[in-house]
Amino acid sequence: MNIIQSYLTNNPCYKAGRKITVKGLMLHSVGCPQPKASVFVKNWNRADYDRACVHGFIDANTGDIHQTLPWNHRGWHGGGSSNNTHIGVEMCEPATIKYTGGASFTCSDRAAAQAAAKRTYEAAVELFAHLCQQYNLDPLKDGVIVSHREGHARGIASNHGDPEHLWKGLGMSYTMDTFRAAVKAKMGGAAPVQPPAQGTNTPTPPTSKGEVKAKDAAKSFDKALAGTYAVTAGAGLHIRTGAGSSKASLAVLPKGTKVRNYGYYTMAGGVKWLYIQVTYQGVQYTGFSSSEYLKKQ
Ligand SMILES: [Zn+2]
Repeated sequence: MNIIQSYLTNNPCYKAGRKITVKGLMLHSVGCPQPKASVFVKNWNRADYDRACVHGFIDANTGDIHQTLPWNHRGWHGGGSSNNTHIGVEMCEPATIKYTGGASFTCSDRAAAQAAAKRTYEAAVELFAHLCQQYNLDPLKDGVIVSHREGHARGIASNHGDPEHLWKGLGMSYTMDTFRAAVKAKMGGAAPVQPPAQGTNTPTPPTSKGEVKAKDAAKSFDKALAGTYAVTAGAGLHIRTGAGSSKASLAVLPKGTKVRNYGYYTMAGGVKWLYIQVTYQGVQYTGFSSSEYLKKQ
C-alpha cells in the first residue's frame, strides 16, 4: 500500500478544519473517465472548489492512494450526515469508458477497464482494512463500510449510484458485500488493538511510504535459521529497531503472524534476536524480534 500525502490545503473544506469521530468508511467512484488521482488533487485544491472534498483518491493506473485530508477531518463527500461520521475515499475510473447519461457508459476496451477497476478495488480493500484497524471498526458491522449508493439508501448521503454502477457496467462480480468480506479477510482476524509485550515502548507510527526499517543492522548469519516463523506470544510480539528489549518498537505483531528470516540475527542478553521481515496492516516492517517468541514453521 502506497499512501502519498497531498492535502487539499486550498480547498474550503480543508480550511473549515472540522474534526469528526470516525465511525465508518464510505467508498466512492469519481463518475468520470479519469484514471489519474493527481488530476483530481490538482483540480480540487483550489479556494473556489467549494463543492466537494474527500479524504483520498485511488489512482486507477498505479493503485497509489493520494490522501487529501487527514483521516479525522470532516469531509464533504457524502452530501448528507455521513460527512459527520464517515471517511470518504474515491476510486478513479478507467480512461476507456464514456458516460452516456447518468450512471450508464460505453467502454472501448473492456479488459483494460476491468484491470483498472480491479486495481482500485484491491487498493481500497487494503486501505479500508488499514483504517478499520486504526479506528477499531468492524468492517462487517451494519453501516460501517458503505458505498455512496448504500449511504443514500440509508438516508445519510445524496442520490448517487457509485461505485457499484462501475463494477456492474463492466460486468464484474464485485459488490459491496464482496468488498466488506475482502476487507475483513485482509485484516486477518487480528484483534484491532494489541497490548504491548516484552517491554513498554510505544510503537512508532509507520511512515507514509508503507515501509518501516530497523536502524540497526544484523551482526551474525546462520543459514540454518532462515525460514518462516510464527509469533507465539499471546499478547503479541514487538518488532524492534535493534536487538534487545530496550530498543524502540516499530510495531506489535499479533500471535500467529508469519514472518520471514533470511539467516541474519544479533545476540543480545544471551538471546538470538532474529532479523525479520513482515507485512502487517499493509506496512512492510524489517527489524528484530526475540527468537523466544518465534516458532519455526
Ligand atoms: Zn460518491
